[in-house]
Amino acid sequence: MMAYLVFLGPPGAGKGTYAKRIQEITGIPHISTGDIFREIVKKENDELGKKIKEIMERGELVPDELVNEVVKRRLSEKDCEKGFILDGYPRTVAQAQFLEDFLDSQEKKITAAILFEVPEEVVVQRLTSRRICPKCGRIYNLLSLPPKEDELCDDCKVKLIQRDDDKEETVRHRYKVYLEKTEPVIEYYENKGLLKRVDGTIGIDNVVSKVLEIIRWSGK
Ligand SMILES: [Zn+2]
Repeated sequence: MMAYLVFLGPPGAGKGTYAKRIQEITGIPHISTGDIFREIVKKENDELGKKIKEIMERGELVPDELVNEVVKRRLSEKDCEKGFILDGYPRTVAQAQFLEDFLDSQEKKITAAILFEVPEEVVVQRLTSRRICPKCGRIYNLLSLPPKEDELCDDCKVKLIQRDDDKEETVRHRYKVYLEKTEPVIEYYENKGLLKRVDGTIGIDNVVSKVLEIIRWSGK
C-alpha cells in the first residue's frame, strides 16, 4: 500500500494516534513536523537546525521557506518511498503549494487530504480531561485513559496535574486559532478535489477503518 496523505484537524482530534495506527498497518511513515522540529534543534552540527533554534528562541515563527526545507529533507529519506502521512504540515497555502511542487518534481501527487472533524465542545472535553504525572511525565485522560486510582499516577502514586495548555480557556483559544489558520488550507484541497472529511468522534477503530478505505479507494 502506498499513499501521500495530509492529515488536518483541530488539536485533540487524534491525528497523531490515527497516523501511528495507519503506519503500523500499512508501513506508510507518520511524519510529524512537531517531532522533526524537536529532533532538529537537538542536533549539534546541523546548520538548518541551528538557524531554526535561534528563531524559536527569539520566540518568532519559523518562516515558510525554512519549514519547507525541513519537510523536503525529511520526505527525501528512504522510508518515504512508501509515501507519507503528514501531521502538522502544511499549515499555510504557501506550504501546500510548495508540497505540491515538490511532489510534482518527483512525479508524485497527494492521494488525499483528510480532515478529522471534531466539534469544539468535544475537543474541550477531551483536552481538559488530560492529566500528566509531574514526576514521570506519563499522560492520562480522565475519560479515555484514566489512572487506576483517582487522579494518582499508576507508577509514582503522586497526584496528577493539568498542564496550562489543557486548561479550558487555552483549549478554546487554540481551537479558534486552528479554524482561522486552517480554513484556507482546507479550501485549497477542497478546490483540488482532494479533501476527504472524516467524523473524528466515532472512535479510533472506526476512524482508522475510514482512513484505510480512503487510501484503498484513492489508490485505484
Ligand atoms: Zn508517574
